[in-house]
Amino acid sequence: MIFKKDKSAKTLFSAKEKKGIANAIREAELETSGEIRLHVENNCSGDVFTQAKKVFYALGMDKTELKNAVLFYIAVKDKKFAIVADKGINDAVPANFWENIKEKMKRHFAGGNYFEGVCEAIEITGEKLKTYFPRSDDDRDELSNEISIGE
Ligand code: CA
Ligand code: CA
Repeated sequence: MIFKKDKSAKTLFSAKEKKGIANAIREAELETSGEIRLHVENNCSGDVFTQAKKVFYALGMDKTELKNAVLFYIAVKDKKFAIVADKGINDAVPANFWENIKEKMKRHFAGGNYFEGVCEAIEITGEKLKTYFPRSDDDRDELSNEISIGE
């Protein structure tokens, strides 16, 4: 049981936290060409990674030039979350990299600290992206930094 019952995709984060998350993503992307997004929705009845991948494509995250987008996906009501990374970054990071981040997120979520969990995950991912995909002078913000909220 990692998400409290009264939480929904719209209320998991306060307005202030939403801004904070967009800001954390913006900061993480300052030093890398990689792109990070967070999608929050209520329900995921099937396999969470399959669903997260669908969202990854729906958000056009497979279209980054260097194939280095990372999606954090949360299904609030069904209490599931997943991380989807494109091929460029997936080929570069150690095998247990995403598992380690998920463990950290889980620990924060278990304590009700969703904001902290997401921000730490963004920060660690940004650090790693920076190593493999440094930002170039002509970098573009290929994907919005705002949270994507589904139904
Ligand atoms: Ca960029
Ligand atoms: Ca971005």
